[in-house]
Amino acid sequence: MATADTQVVVIGGGIVGCAVAHALTRHGVKAMLLESEPALALGASGSNSGILHTGFDSTPGELETQLILRSAVLRDELADELGIELWRCGARLHATTDDERAAVLALADNACANGVEVHIHEGSLAIPGEAVTDPVAFANALAGAAAAAGATVRLGARVTGLAPATGGRVVIALASGEQVVARAAVNCAGLHADAVARMADDDPVTVYPRKGEFFVFSAPAGEPLRQILLPVPSAVGKGVLVFPTVGGQIVAGPTARERDDKSDWSVEADAAELIIPRAVAMYPPLARARQIGAYAGLRPAGRQRNYVIERSRTLPGLTHVAAIRSTGLSAALGIGEHVAAMIARQGAIGLEPARPLPTPPPQPTTGSWWQRAAAYHADPSTPAAPMSTER
Ligand SMILES: Cc1cc2nc3c(=O)[nH]c(=O)nc-3n(C[C@H](O)[C@H](O)[C@H](O)COP(=O)(O)OP(=O)(O)OC[C@H]3O[C@@H](n4cnc5c(N)ncnc54)[C@H](O)[C@@H]3O)c2cc1C
Repeated sequence: MATADTQVVVIGGGIVGCAVAHALTRHGVKAMLLESEPALALGASGSNSGILHTGFDSTPGELETQLILRSAVLRDELADELGIELWRCGARLHATTDDERAAVLALADNACANGVEVHIHEGSLAIPGEAVTDPVAFANALAGAAAAAGATVRLGARVTGLAPATGGRVVIALASGEQVVARAAVNCAGLHADAVARMADDDPVTVYPRKGEFFVFSAPAGEPLRQILLPVPSAVGKGVLVFPTVGGQIVAGPTARERDDKSDWSVEADAAELIIPRAVAMYPPLARARQIGAYAGLRPAGRQRNYVIERSRTLPGLTHVAAIRSTGLSAALGIGEHVAAMIARQGAIGLEPARPLPTPPPQPTTGSWWQRAAAYHADPSTPAAPMSTER
């Protein structure tokens, strides 16, 4: 049985795990990222809306909000270095009733409390800082930059066990039979973060899949969508959005359905009737657009709470970053920085001042980002993604 040593093992190569590995590497810490699937970002991180939220509607003062706001600053600093495509297309939220106009005013106050720029014009709220990106390329860029600076990124590496080792270290067992010994481990296993926690006899949160479905359209001739259209949120949630992708397509969705099966990535039969009429009401040209695809994502939602970022109660050296349900793409850079500082405060590692990392080589891509996870979950025997090479 082979044994490897590293400073910190990060379990899970979604956007959160990639950001944690990137932040550790920026601070001079030797990290090893272990992803069970044959490519990065095949979970929620590759099947979301691809929207980088500003935090205009987030609850002031909460950790989630702080991390979203901090990420926006870090993204500005790192976007060129990472070589990722960000389209600051902005968002608009249109109110038509008195209740909705009151909601828009409340949202503007909320944005102000969070220091996010918004404008109100004729009942609409404009949020110029909202942006879209390719979330798969974002995750790969973070992991690629970390790997280029000495981190290890292992695909097809499923963690099956966690145990204490001497000197407060952690033994991480892999399905291959290999073991890795590290000063610290970070549980970023998304939908399976509760299962990973149980490997250490811990139970910080139960994670369930909250399914979101989308339909993708090619833009109707001469009518490209140039901003994100948001519904006025209601008591039942954020509702259906219509937004452009970095590739110029138009997406309508998502739904929000509480499910139990963590392996069911299907778009359900009634998804179109839940999404399309609402999307067309917001963006009438969609009625003339050609539908070119559909996909579903599973949010890693916590039954009891979300944004569970804390030390394990049972295994010293293990930190959970679990139930990052709905803003993980927007908050990832802030989460990475926050988690690196947490582990350093526990004494497991020291952090050097942050240093720039080499820009990762561009990854070969075929198709659009939203097709990659959908194709893989529909048929796992197809090559998961063009980015599935071992680094
Ligand atoms: C429909 C939908 C819309 C969304 N829209 C947005 C949005 O517009 N903006 C935004 O900011 N956020 C959005 N989100 C939320 C965002 O996608 C999530 O918060 C984020 O992707 C969570 O990332 P993660 O890395 O924690 O989880 P995941 O992406 O699920 O990654 C976890 C990884 O851990 C791996 N893993 C699991 N078990 C093991 C193991 N035992 N060993 C090794 N690896 C393991 C998995 O294979 C997976 O790759 C949306 C999510 C959904 C589903």
